[in-house]
Amino acid sequence: MHREAFLNFQPKSMLNLVLFGPPGAGKGTQSQKLIEKYGLIHLSTGDLLRSEIAQGTELGLEAKKLMDQGILVPDAVVIGMISHKLDANRDAAGFIFDGFPRTVAQAEALDQLLHSKGENISGMIALEVGDEELEHRLLLRGKNSGRADDANPEVIRKRIKEYNDKTTPVADFYRSQNKFTSVNGIGSIEEIFDSISAVTEAL
Ligand code: ADP
Repeated sequence: MHREAFLNFQPKSMLNLVLFGPPGAGKGTQSQKLIEKYGLIHLSTGDLLRSEIAQGTELGLEAKKLMDQGILVPDAVVIGMISHKLDANRDAAGFIFDGFPRTVAQAEALDQLLHSKGENISGMIALEVGDEELEHRLLLRGKNSGRADDANPEVIRKRIKEYNDKTTPVADFYRSQNKFTSVNGIGSIEEIFDSISAVTEAL
């Protein structure tokens, strides 16, 4: 390598956060605040899927059938969407992954995608909120969000069950890499954000 090229070489250091927590934990709210503070790009698979539905794409039509029942859509679908977004934002300061990865297969795929770009996950921050509070928050949100999956208590319980069965193992995946921190998700939006910021700055 040329000496000059070597001196110009700057290791990339994106801030890549996985925001983790059950449906209704407040990931979307806290993501918005993190974006403003740290200049990150928000990648929410839920939002990406809802945008496919709004555009009436084939992918959206297929995903809607599952989402309306509170069931996860196939790994390959969400991994493909994330891969496109990573490619489209090569110069980003970093990303917030919200609602992704939701299965261990997705977490492994995300590691591979990032490694192939010389990047990795900086850390996972989990918002801890009990099941009863979640159901309450989601039913309340359903009154305004217009989301079919928020309006029906049965679908809400199914989403929480999917989370407990398929998504909680993702926390162990990051724990085993020493990248896991949990934060109390009950309190004011500002209090919770202060805790998340403190964790982020210690990464
Ligand atoms: P919430 O976390 O509040 O349940 P999201 O907007 O993140 O809502 O997701 C809504 C629905 O979209 C999920 O119930 C699921 O059907 C689908 N979904 C979102 N992200 C994923 C993902 N990473 N893997 C599989 N399905 C997903």
